[in-house]
Amino acid sequence: MSQPGAPNPSAGRPPAVVVIGGGIGGLAAAAALHLSGRRVTVLERAPSLEPVGAAISLSPNALRALDVLGVGDRIRDLAAWQGDGGLRTPGGHWLARTDAAAAAARFGGPIVLLPRATLVEVLAALLPPGTVRTSVDARLTDPGDAHRPARVTTPDGELEADLVVAADGIHSASRRTLFPDHPGPVHSGFTTWRVMIPVPGAVFPSHETWGRGCLWGTHPLKDGRVYAYAAARTPAGQHADDERAELLRRFGHWHHPVPAVLAAARPEDVLRHDVHHLAPPPPAYHRGRTALLGDAAHAMPPTLGQGGNLAVEDAVVLAHHFGDLAAYTAARLPRATALTRRAVRVARVNMTGSRAGAALRDALVTAVSRTVPGALLRGFDGVADWRPPQPPYAAVRAGRTSAARRNEHG
Ligand SMILES: Cc1cc2nc3c(=O)[nH]c(=O)nc-3n(C[C@H](O)[C@H](O)[C@H](O)COP(=O)(O)OP(=O)(O)OC[C@H]3O[C@@H](n4cnc5c(N)ncnc54)[C@H](O)[C@@H]3O)c2cc1C
Repeated sequence: MSQPGAPNPSAGRPPAVVVIGGGIGGLAAAAALHLSGRRVTVLERAPSLEPVGAAISLSPNALRALDVLGVGDRIRDLAAWQGDGGLRTPGGHWLARTDAAAAAARFGGPIVLLPRATLVEVLAALLPPGTVRTSVDARLTDPGDAHRPARVTTPDGELEADLVVAADGIHSASRRTLFPDHPGPVHSGFTTWRVMIPVPGAVFPSHETWGRGCLWGTHPLKDGRVYAYAAARTPAGQHADDERAELLRRFGHWHHPVPAVLAAARPEDVLRHDVHHLAPPPPAYHRGRTALLGDAAHAMPPTLGQGGNLAVEDAVVLAHHFGDLAAYTAARLPRATALTRRAVRVARVNMTGSRAGAALRDALVTAVSRTVPGALLRGFDGVADWRPPQPPYAAVRAGRTSAARRNEHG
């Protein structure tokens, strides 16, 4: 951090960064900060980095951020292209078709789907051995300021940092330390289920299917497995003894491949999570020498599939604005707040519980998609076309090397 008068805990060494949280956001930030020359430590509370067994959709905005880290093409190779399919009714009628190639043409690259574990593995491999410490419950004890370093307490002692990245997720304790008056997350009104399993013999186009107050999506993964998710309006905190049986009760009569997915799933394959989001946003994404990142800063409903995408964007923007956290907040808060609000509005429409509302929604989607080519894709304008502020680090290093070589040879 280039704050005048600040004691430098790094004393002649590269600036020290402590990242709290080893999720997608924390790992992407650690990679961006390491690749741009900082000494990084990641503290993760869980015993391993292995994320819950679900998939994640990444759009060209996050893939371009991953290009900055040098792993965009690797992720594109490991992932399935998403988008050939469309929106359906529970009886199987198509409301609107979507086209993966059209999405790629519009946004300069594909929207892809891959297991979260794969993304985590690729990000973690960018870090030097020893960077990530697991089973460490870390607490931000002092966000620091221009005159003193930030401090993070762990069961093994205290760490000082030039920058703390608080990437500790939606229920972030760091956010509460930075902004004690922020009300924290609210329940978004629905719960989600996810499975990622082989479904032998199932041939189907990708789909998201909208019912009344509920939806279901099924998408193939590149490794032959299927990723399916469902959502339904429910009060917070409800759980079934057997979530697969609960899915069968709610969705078992829907169109193919929903019954086939449920037949292939075991109860223990089904993950269930209530959805929460941050409304209103925190007043800033930084205080002192501490930056909030990912869900800790801007948890949103998954209706746009952008929470993880924005966390990866945050990571490269934070590395770009290292030393000027006000610029990081200015670059990120308006975009993430607008997308959070949009995700909440979209959830209201596609999860509407009334018969009349669902009929109107379906009629409008059908009419618009028939009359306006690419109508569904246009909803991603301003989202998927985002570009990072800096070129890929490898290109920067190559540029520096050749410039240095030119200098050496006079
Ligand atoms: C059903 C569903 C589907 C979704 N689908 C998509 C999608 O397709 N595309 C997309 O972009 N986004 C999607 N999202 C959103 C995405 O999952 C999140 O936005 C993303 O995982 C946020 O990453 P993060 O690193 O900020 O937080 P997290 O993944 O929550 O990571 C936070 C980490 O911090 C650790 N931690 C917490 N407290 C401490 C502590 N005190 N000390 C040390 N470590 C700590 C936690 O253990 C955790 O590992 C979806 C969300 C849901 C619920």
